[in-house]
Amino acid sequence: MRQEQEARPPLAPLWNRGFCITLKTWSSGPGFLLKEDIMKIKHIDHIGIAVKSIEQAGKFYTDILGLKIEEVENVADQKVNVAFLPITDSELELLESTEPDGPVAKYIDARGEGVQHVAFRVDNIEEALDELKAKGVRMIDQEPRSGAGGAKIAFIHPKETNGVLVEICERG
Ligand code: ZN
Repeated sequence: MRQEQEARPPLAPLWNRGFCITLKTWSSGPGFLLKEDIMKIKHIDHIGIAVKSIEQAGKFYTDILGLKIEEVENVADQKVNVAFLPITDSELELLESTEPDGPVAKYIDARGEGVQHVAFRVDNIEEALDELKAKGVRMIDQEPRSGAGGAKIAFIHPKETNGVLVEICERG
């Protein structure tokens, strides 16, 4: 098993250049590129919820549900404050705009408060992005950028996902 894994990296460049469909079609036996070579989503890293006020909206999650706001972080380039509420190996992420023209403020103006994005955790975001691009998936972010909590993140275009804003996320 271990040897098999070590033998795989040389195939990665082919995979990344869009040969995955062809290779998958050929893969009929063990030892070739199989389903397990497809990007592994580890778990739902977090669910992002757009709110007008973390203080006000957070009360439901803390006082009623008993969750804890671990920290509130300012992400200046996204013009948001982000509050993390851990739930086992996942989190709720309350997003509050710090500027009237920030993306979260615009989201709330257009659609109201509520679930804004779902984030999937991967081991290696660069490989995940290469794979998505090789498969022709439209990305909002062509390269990973810094997200809250020291994560590397990238968003998939919601037109690919029937309107769901999907974030791919790697944590160190
Ligand atoms: Zn997020």
